[in-house]
Amino acid sequence: MGTPWACVGGEGPPRLPPVLTGLLVTAVGLELLYVLALGPGPPTPGPPAPVLHLLLGLYQALNLLVNLGRFLRSDPGIRGVVLAGRGLGRGWEYCHRCQSQVPPRSGHCTACRVCVLRKDHHCLLLGRCVGFRNYRPFLCLLLHGAGASLHAAALLGPALAALLRAQTPLRAVALLLTPWLMLLTGSVSPAQFALAFATDTCVASALLCGAGLLFHGALLLRGQTTREWARGQRGYDLGPRHNLQAALGPRWALVWLWPFVHSPLPGDGVVFPSARRP
Ligand SMILES: [Zn+2]
Ligand SMILES: [Zn+2]
Repeated sequence: MGTPWACVGGEGPPRLPPVLTGLLVTAVGLELLYVLALGPGPPTPGPPAPVLHLLLGLYQALNLLVNLGRFLRSDPGIRGVVLAGRGLGRGWEYCHRCQSQVPPRSGHCTACRVCVLRKDHHCLLLGRCVGFRNYRPFLCLLLHGAGASLHAAALLGPALAALLRAQTPLRAVALLLTPWLMLLTGSVSPAQFALAFATDTCVASALLCGAGLLFHGALLLRGQTTREWARGQRGYDLGPRHNLQAALGPRWALVWLWPFVHSPLPGDGVVFPSARRP
């Protein structure tokens, strides 16, 4: 009947969450530079170490920026996707908010105001949904976010340990847990506060990204989305190797290491091979 399926309104997800996350990351990055350049930085390493740290930092920054750009640029929703004539099969549903038939594994997001192809979850920190089109950069962000956070924490660790050894046990614990309070009460200098806060943030970020990577790595091998895992569904598990190829493309082992590896995703996010025969 000529229904314009998937012609959903043009409003995208809210922009405030990624802006706030960007401001936090920028603040921590500036504090890291401040601590390393001016504050009580780490002990001077051996001759090759600064170059290696610099090269590793540049590699991590490149991976983070390229994958973040790809994640934010890709629209995981059904906007503009040609769905007409392909639906009404098994697993298709009608979304009253989008006023469209939507394919299996998709789901409506109230924050993004659209149905998302192979919806995994809505990422609060990045302010948009993780779905078929942006799952790969999301996973790479988790990997390199954990790596960069661990790297920064390792750079700051020796200086923080030396600072904590010079404090009483009570002040050391307070500095670790409430650095803002210690700064506001004048108990520590700005450089000491920056060292404690930047290290705290890096450790928390490494734990968050590491836990996310382990969780999504397990889902990746099982061919599940987070929503399917929560519902106990496992209808698209093709075996670990094929699951990796379905989510990351044929060069699934290399895309983690270099963001410019060409590895086109099989499929279109609308039709998925099922593990079960109908
Ligand atoms: Zn919808
Ligand atoms: Zn969303």
